[in-house]
Amino acid sequence: MRTPTVVGNWKMNTTLKEATALANALRRELDRVDGVEVAICPPYVYLLDVADQVRDSRIGLGAQDCHWETRGAFTGEVSPGMLRDVGCAYVVLGHSERRNLMGEKDDLVNRKVRAALAARLTPIVCVGELLEERDRGAAEAVVRGQLEGSLAGLGPAELEDVILAYEPVWAIGTGRTATPGQAQEIHAMIRAWLRKRFGSSGEGVRILYGGSVKPDNMADLMAQADVDGALVGGASLEAASFASIVKYRKENR
Ligand code: PEP
Repeated sequence: MRTPTVVGNWKMNTTLKEATALANALRRELDRVDGVEVAICPPYVYLLDVADQVRDSRIGLGAQDCHWETRGAFTGEVSPGMLRDVGCAYVVLGHSERRNLMGEKDDLVNRKVRAALAARLTPIVCVGELLEERDRGAAEAVVRGQLEGSLAGLGPAELEDVILAYEPVWAIGTGRTATPGQAQEIHAMIRAWLRKRFGSSGEGVRILYGGSVKPDNMADLMAQADVDGALVGGASLEAASFASIVKYRKENR
């Protein structure tokens, strides 16, 4: 049984005041939500303040990236251990904005995944194709390649602590969501790949969908057999919309 999981990626947004207010509003909105794992990923500099707002609540804390070393001369970087130290349980890795704007490749993502696991953080590993790759029929091959590279060297036990996020790049921040069928097609391919590579451990891995998830498309996406949750960007910056995504099931409303 895979616990439905909803993660908000705030990216480089909010002021300190907005960040604490948003976390506080979410804490109130999500107080009674049952059966859904929820996390928010504010910018690094607000992690401690947001941690104060969500302490002992249903909302977990995550970061948007980390370095692969534990410490040292890496100016501007933040280690997985530092993230744990300030209360993080999750870290988003290999987001398409880091892959495409910062040139992060699968081998680098893989080093970060291993470092996050070693620090007992749950890595949320993002994969997804560009529009041009989808148009030439290469979506599955691209995603498979990213999985192979990003999860290289992991064993079945380590895999159990990993969350995956399929985020077609053409659907991120564009308002153009993949149809539930398009999402399921890739999620099913990912599940099959996981089973083949990791055996039964692949069954329990949560695969989130990301790309313009909104309150009005969440339930249809979640109705797909291999969609286990959502990684939400834009709609996670507004408490009411993120909360209604989390409350996609009638019994939680
Ligand atoms: C994201 O950045 O991970 C994302 C899915 O963004 P949005 O929801 O805004 O498309």
